[in-house]
Amino acid sequence: MKIVDVQVQTFHYLSNTVRDSDGHGHPGPAHDAQQTLLTIRTDEGVAGFCFGANAQIVESMVKPLLMGEDPFFHEKIWHMLKERQRLALDRLSDKVLAAVDVALWDLVGRALNQPVYKLLGATRTKVPAYASTMCGDDLVGGLNTPEAYAEFALQCKARGYTAFKLHTWQPPYSADPKRDVAACAAVREAVGPDMALMIDPYHYYSRHQALYLGRELEKLGFYWMEEPMDEHSMSSYIWLADQLDLAIVGPETVEGKMYSRAEWIVHHACDMTRAGVRDVGGITPMMKIVHLAESFNMQVESHGPDMANLHVLCAMGIRGEYHERGLLHPFIDYETPQPWLNQIVDPMDDEGNVHVSDAPGLGMDINFDYIQANLIQKA
Ligand code: MG
Repeated sequence: MKIVDVQVQTFHYLSNTVRDSDGHGHPGPAHDAQQTLLTIRTDEGVAGFCFGANAQIVESMVKPLLMGEDPFFHEKIWHMLKERQRLALDRLSDKVLAAVDVALWDLVGRALNQPVYKLLGATRTKVPAYASTMCGDDLVGGLNTPEAYAEFALQCKARGYTAFKLHTWQPPYSADPKRDVAACAAVREAVGPDMALMIDPYHYYSRHQALYLGRELEKLGFYWMEEPMDEHSMSSYIWLADQLDLAIVGPETVEGKMYSRAEWIVHHACDMTRAGVRDVGGITPMMKIVHLAESFNMQVESHGPDMANLHVLCAMGIRGEYHERGLLHPFIDYETPQPWLNQIVDPMDDEGNVHVSDAPGLGMDINFDYIQANLIQKA
């Protein structure tokens, strides 16, 4: 089998999410937005897909490397792309590697008529999800006060979630550890002692602020804290983790694929490691992180609602405890699929478990008619 075409199509859709000045998503008026679909085709008619890829970089840097390759040699292809990054990191990002790697896993799954999680070595078919909120805002009835978070946590509990994670306020809304604690306390008070609670606060607190927040969350029985400081300072996380019983989960956004996760583990900068296919460059490096963490008896907590993450979660020996479902907000309807899909990527039952698809590849149910009808024609 040989790769004969690599293509990125760009199409329109109507979005209800707007980005603030710091790049965080919030509910907003419907507006025109764009999405991309990467397609890798073979000479035997089988293709693999991944949404979200840079068309120009794929065309100029990825396609020439992939043409003629056997897609089953996707480990070799991943290493080839990784090594090509050395002098091209400004263009060939881990997000590009991730899109290519995910599309190749989807392709081989479709070729073998098996879901990806079974190709990886299955351990389960469903995973508990946590409700992951959008960042705080100033919308009345949104996430504008500690009481609003408490109200929303109760709604999520009623939907079936057994765990809830607050993304608290970040600029342009003022970040304040005391206000974070107030929101966390209001949520704990509302949902009672049994719901697992986590926080992902402002990412640029000082050591002093992060330690204060962590100690207060210990009193509230929180399960973990993510990224309260810039992750480039691993020393700061060693300092923080040493002083807290509260689990520190990370790194999430710092570069370095499995290499940076290995450093954090051996230097005791985290209690649980973190990886998402989009952060670390695909399913291939994420599985390396899963096996690395397992060798240290450490769990990997998965970042983001990506369908590929769900397949990895269903192929872990030491299991990451939760699938991140969201981002959620009182004004956002998460249960309706995006227009380019016929079904959402992480359907959840009334007990709060998301179920992995048994369809070949990743099992994405793509609405190709919608994509074709909304294509942006190249000039
Ligand atoms: Mg996070």
